[in-house]
Amino acid sequence: MASYRARWVLPVSRPPIENGCVHVEHGRITRIGRHEAHHGATDLGDVAVLPGFVNAHTHLELTGCTGRVPFRGSFTRWIADLAAVVQSDYQQGEEARREAIREGFRQSLAAGVTAVADIGHGAVAVEEWRRAKVHTVGFLEVLGMGPRRLTPHERCFEDAVKLVEGDARAEETARAEAHGSLESSANSSSLDPSLLSPPLTGSVLRRFGLSPHAPYSTDAALYWQVVAYAAQAGVPVCTHLAETREEIAFLSTGTGPFRELLERLGLWDGSFAPPGCSPVRYMAQLGLLALKPLLAHVNYASDDDLDLLAGHGASVVFCPRSHAFFGHEPYRYREMLARRINVCLGTDSLASNASLSILDEMRYLAAGGGLLHSQLLAMGTLAGARALGLSDEIGSLEPGKLANFAVVPLDYPATCDPTADVLLGQAPPAAF
Ligand SMILES: [Zn+2]
Repeated sequence: MASYRARWVLPVSRPPIENGCVHVEHGRITRIGRHEAHHGATDLGDVAVLPGFVNAHTHLELTGCTGRVPFRGSFTRWIADLAAVVQSDYQQGEEARREAIREGFRQSLAAGVTAVADIGHGAVAVEEWRRAKVHTVGFLEVLGMGPRRLTPHERCFEDAVKLVEGDARAEETARAEAHGSLESSANSSSLDPSLLSPPLTGSVLRRFGLSPHAPYSTDAALYWQVVAYAAQAGVPVCTHLAETREEIAFLSTGTGPFRELLERLGLWDGSFAPPGCSPVRYMAQLGLLALKPLLAHVNYASDDDLDLLAGHGASVVFCPRSHAFFGHEPYRYREMLARRINVCLGTDSLASNASLSILDEMRYLAAGGGLLHSQLLAMGTLAGARALGLSDEIGSLEPGKLANFAVVPLDYPATCDPTADVLLGQAPPAAF
């Protein structure tokens, strides 16, 4: 058994505990409360101990893209620019993409992120997800639009399903053998690394699922295939949704910049019938909302859309700094939270953001005001765990849950409000 004492413990699911102590056995939390001298705890000092942060939307394959794809006012142009950068990177071979994913996991841990929902492609992504010492929900991306001879939709779907199923078998074997454990990132923080050896021999959680890319790149038949498979196999599903005004125009009338992009790429053959409704309603019609999916962005949503999301129990990932990068209209997260929609946080990829840190996202929002700090902290932890289907195991500090922590030094002129101190401070976190 191990015990850790900290100036503050922030369980998220209940109020902060001053002079708190967390007890850990076999990789799980057994007890949390006030520190007592007889606990014989390792003293972490003037820090706050929190549940590890959850990044509910990222593309770790793009970790090498920082600053390389500037936004010039048009989202479709940005997508085309990004595709060109990715294509030239991929020509350097598989190893570069592998290293990008590994580096993404390293940067995540160094930012106190202990769980990610990552979108990736092919066996390389699956192998890296399996190797990662971070809880991972890996979504294999499928897409396809227009002429089948150019985008082999079925093969894309079948390949992804094969990888998901192959992994389910591999995971069963792994579970029968032994568990890995999370790594510690104390070396990158201002904390004494010797204090932060990982307290666990507990499991690293992994779930693999499918991500039809977006309504402008994935036709209805392919969405249906994914929905039918996911419903039967019980795998998680994620999609990019309602990200831009251009997407709204494309779905309502089949026109606008996305139509032009598809035409330029030779992917418009007239077979796509615009549903004539909002992206959210379209997903309800396709049966996707019934799967309680993880929906990335949802930047443009009407009241009706929000009611639909609330009614279906979908989770929405807000990516605050990526949202600002593209200059989107104000995000409706207050209205979403008021409807009890599960709103969590993501960084998106480093092509549209400066770091893979969820604490940076929370600090960015905290600086803008308008939300309770406790609400923000829950978005970056427990809401993310719920969205990933992992809230029985992680997302808050409670007896029985896995023992992985984010530790934030309290360098801000400390007040009696540790949540504010964490969110308004600047000290880099660590994970252990
Ligand atoms: Zn994305």
